[in-house]
Amino acid sequence: MGEFDLIARYFTRKPARAALGVGDDCALLQPRPGTQLAISSDMLVEGRHFLSTVNPAHLGHKALAVNLSDLAACGAEPLAFTLALALPHADEAWLAPFSRGLLALADAHGCELVGGDTTRGPLNICITVFGEVPVVAGRSQALLRSGAQPGDDVYVSGTLGDARLALEVFRGHLSVPEATFATARERMEQPTPRVALGQALRGIATAAVDVSDGLLGDLGHVLKASRVGVRIDTTVAAGLVMAQAEGMFTAQQRLAFALAGGDDYELVFTAPRNARDAVAAASARSLTPVTRIGVIEAEPGVRLVDAAATPVDAAFASFDHFA
Ligand code: ADP
Ligand code: MG
Repeated sequence: MGEFDLIARYFTRKPARAALGVGDDCALLQPRPGTQLAISSDMLVEGRHFLSTVNPAHLGHKALAVNLSDLAACGAEPLAFTLALALPHADEAWLAPFSRGLLALADAHGCELVGGDTTRGPLNICITVFGEVPVVAGRSQALLRSGAQPGDDVYVSGTLGDARLALEVFRGHLSVPEATFATARERMEQPTPRVALGQALRGIATAAVDVSDGLLGDLGHVLKASRVGVRIDTTVAAGLVMAQAEGMFTAQQRLAFALAGGDDYELVFTAPRNARDAVAAASARSLTPVTRIGVIEAEPGVRLVDAAATPVDAAFASFDHFA
C-alpha cells in the first residue's frame, strides 16, 4: 500500500464543518465569527510516551485525547486536528485499529481530521488541534494559567494517580488485583479529556491547566504564571486515587500517586470562593466530578497540610519514592 492509498483509506473523510479537508496542500477552517482559534500540539514517541505493546486503537484514542485535554484546559471547543505520522511500515493490522480509535474519539467531540503528513520512520505521532474560544466584549474567554488570585479555591477533576498506578504495575514495582489493574490501565491508555468541563468553566475559573506531568508539577505552572502559592489538603488529595485502589496502599503512597502521578489528563483550576455554586453547576452540567483540594495564597510555594491543618512532612515534596 502506497502513502496516498494509506491516507485515503485510513485518514480521509468528508469534511463536516471544515471548508476543505484532506487532499489539498492546505485545509481550510472557518472559525465562527466572534471566536479565537486555540491551537495546541502534542507528540507521542514510542518508548517515551507509550509502550510498543499498546493496543493501536487505544493509542489512536490517547494521541488525540492528550491534545483535546489541552483544548479543555483553555476552555476551547474542539474544531479540527491534523495528524503527522511517522511509521516504520504501512501495516494495515496496525493502521486499521489506530485510525478507528483515533476517529471514534474525534467523532465524539466533533473534531475533524483535516490534514497531516505521513512518512516512513520510527513510530511517532504528532497531532495539532484547533479549537474555538468565544471573545466577549473584546475579551477572550480562554482559561489561562495566569489568573489565579490569593483566596481562590483550587479544584481538580476526576481522579488522580491511576495511570501512574498502572505504569508501576507494568514496571513490576507494584502488584494489584486484576480488576484494579484493568481500571487503572484504562485510565492510562484511554484517558478522558475534560472538554465539556473546560467549556463550562469559562467565565468562572480564574486559571486552569491540564494534568499531564503530575498535579504538583502542572499546578506549579499556574502558581508561577499567577505569581502565587498554594495550600493543599493532603487528606483530600490522597483520596483522589481511584476507589478500586482503596486499602491497597499506605496514605503516603496514595498521596504520592495523586500529587505526582502523571498522565492523568484531568483539569486543575482555580475559582473565587464566591463561585462555589457556579463551579458545582459547571461540574453537574458537564457530568464531571470535581474536588476542592486547597486554596491559593499570596506567599509563593506549596504548603501541604493534613485535615487538621497541620503541616505535612516536607519530605513529601519530592515524591520520588515509588519503588
Ligand atoms: P504535501 O506534500 O503537499 O504536504 P502530502 O502529499 O503530504 O501533501 O499529503 C496529501 C494530503 O493528505 C494533504 O492534504 C495532507 O494534509 C493529507 N495527509 C497526509 N498525511 C495525512 C494523515 N496522516 N492524516 C490526514 N491527512 C493526511
Ligand atoms: Mg507532505
